[in-house]
Amino acid sequence: MPRAAFVTLSRVTVNIDPLVARMQGFGTTVFAEMTALAVRTGAINLGQGFPDTDGPAKLLETAAEAIRGGANQYPPGPGLPELREAVAAQRAERHSLDYDPSAEVLVTVGATEAIAATLLALVETGEEVVVFEPYYDSYAAIIALSGAVRRPVTLRPEGGRFTFDPAELRAAVTPRTKLILLNSPHNPTGTVFSRGELEVIADLCREHDLIAVTDEVYEYLTYDAEHVPLATLPGMRERTVAISSAGKTFSVTGWKTGWITAPPEFVRAVQTVKQFLTFTASAPYQRAVAYALREELAWVETLRTSLRSKRDRLTGGLEAAGLIAFRPQGTYFVQADVRPLGFADGREFTRVLHERAGIVAIPAQVFYDSDAGDPYVRFAFCKRDEVIDDAVRRLGRIAV
Ligand SMILES: *Cc1c(COP(=O)(O)O)cnc(C)c1O
Repeated sequence: MPRAAFVTLSRVTVNIDPLVARMQGFGTTVFAEMTALAVRTGAINLGQGFPDTDGPAKLLETAAEAIRGGANQYPPGPGLPELREAVAAQRAERHSLDYDPSAEVLVTVGATEAIAATLLALVETGEEVVVFEPYYDSYAAIIALSGAVRRPVTLRPEGGRFTFDPAELRAAVTPRTKLILLNSPHNPTGTVFSRGELEVIADLCREHDLIAVTDEVYEYLTYDAEHVPLATLPGMRERTVAISSAGKTFSVTGWKTGWITAPPEFVRAVQTVKQFLTFTASAPYQRAVAYALREELAWVETLRTSLRSKRDRLTGGLEAAGLIAFRPQGTYFVQADVRPLGFADGREFTRVLHERAGIVAIPAQVFYDSDAGDPYVRFAFCKRDEVIDDAVRRLGRIAV
């Protein structure tokens, strides 16, 4: 009798998937999966976008000093005042955008938490979020967690870069649309939205009274285009939540120190959610990032120059191997069309690429709802020159 009960119990346990319905279909992120594959097989990892060199030495030392100096207890919920001041000063200096550090800046655990807390705070169940596909993978999961509906608008190649059709964007906006979530410079296509493209988005936001959420984590990493924050366009500052992070700018992706800048009512709403997710972000890194925003922008300029040449190195190599590579205007990534090599599908290509060349890359279809991403693969070039050169040599092995 007890034995039967046990069996029943264990069968019940086995049969029920503990994952909530809202998250069904979201498995392990493809980046974690591909990095694990690269580590297991010793392949070159052009999958996940993290640099294989560290940020500026004095930045690292500042974090270590902060720990030794006792910055080890909970910092204030909205973030260390010195970091909020540095973020506000940076927005003012670079883009003439004025934010009050005490009411309009909120420090988060990376841009990832900023995106999550912002959507959870601002979008009701059943409301719609317009998002450009391909999109960063956390967007879809967080939209789903917030009970909202995503309305993808596809970026397609035109004149050597990816862009959207304004009519398609317009058609994606319905009476249920609450906000537009955009990422520029854009991962994975490398597109930096032009002022003209941003004006189309801003027009729609003003016309339909939409909130804009901008993911600007690559704001400094542009190569032949200027990053324009959407909040600088007329009527947009008051309806925009801008998100950024230290990870990409200072090559410290493991530090997970991000922030939002937005009008006070948005900051209050987002902080209300954020306080129950993490309450606050890690103290020593906040102090170090405040230092970096004040003192290390010259280093970022050298990073940008170096990434531009890495971009050219990898893009040239992909082209020489027979792929169509879309030269990115910004970010860590280049998206390439694999069809000229006889592959119909990015997933099949990445499998062969790993088998024959020992290179891990990401099939872009994971960033799409539609099948528009099937022929593309994303490669990261934020790697040491010798790693890129080695990868380019190995690419020769995939020609059929
Ligand atoms: C890396 C990345 C993030 C995450 O930033 P963190 O600060 O590491 O959380 C968010 N959005 C995009 C587009 C990214 O590439």
